Amino acid sequence: DRMFPRPWRRRVFTVANQKGGVGKTTSAVNLAAGLAMHGLRVLVIDLDPQGNASTALGVDHRSGTPSVYEVLLGEVTVADAAQVSDQSDRLFCVPATIDLAGAEIELVSMSAREARLKEALSDEALDELNPDYVFIDCPPSLGLLTVNAMVAAQEVLIPIQCEYYALEGLSQLLRNIELVQAHLNSALVVSTILLTMYDGRTKLADQVTSEVRHHFGDTVLQTVIPRSVKVSEAPGFGQSVLAYDPGSRGAMSYLDAAREVAERGAEAPR
Ligand code: ADP
Ligand code: MG
Repeated sequence: DRMFPRPWRRRVFTVANQKGGVGKTTSAVNLAAGLAMHGLRVLVIDLDPQGNASTALGVDHRSGTPSVYEVLLGEVTVADAAQVSDQSDRLFCVPATIDLAGAEIELVSMSAREARLKEALSDEALDELNPDYVFIDCPPSLGLLTVNAMVAAQEVLIPIQCEYYALEGLSQLLRNIELVQAHLNSALVVSTILLTMYDGRTKLADQVTSEVRHHFGDTVLQTVIPRSVKVSEAPGFGQSVLAYDPGSRGAMSYLDAAREVAERGAEAPR
């Protein structure tokens, strides 16, 4: 298959939305798998104590496994904690274990508490893995873990569920991003919005879609991810939907979305 274009420089995305169940993990994992399938090197950082991204990529995340928790503490490097997924030798994951559940509180008393992930993702630290893309899968909150992700990234990707209340909480998320931009990471941009769990049978889905496009314009990817049972089954097999059922509508949509992401990142912004 044809390669997707390599980005003009490494792109680090935070996949954030403080609402749970909107498709953060699903989008992080499947976009990552799509990019890796087309020749790019991709690192997924699981920053949610639930460890759903680790599960979906089939990597070990039992308590005691070197994980993002030890990375935040500075005990282990990203390269040492990263595991290669069995779907692709270009797709890596730094897992989250249940130990991360305490980190939100433990970080409070640490020095440079907002910048610990950024430090761990320095160019030198990523030299060996050399990813073209990094996706940080955030927990459903706006706490210190998500702030660490926003400080470490250049871009925010916001998945929005095509459902009632989809826009609720979005202004709070955007306000938090503005605070991070003002005080901690002036380079951060909301570059990408992805509409997920679209159900074409409902009028509501179309209303949400047009409202989001009206508000956010070209930031919204053209590709919309449909609600599909294959997408929800795949993690149970430790796989992305692209590996689980490559011909399914869910897989093809995530592949299209990944292509769009890659094409947008091919050239330096002017
Ligand atoms: P978040 O990380 O934001 O909490 P998830 O990605 O875990 O959200 O998705 C929440 C639930 O919805 C999961 O059970 C997931 O499998 C399911 N899901 C996500 N996207 C789809 C989709 N396009 N179609 C069907 N189910 C989906
Ligand atoms: Mg999640």
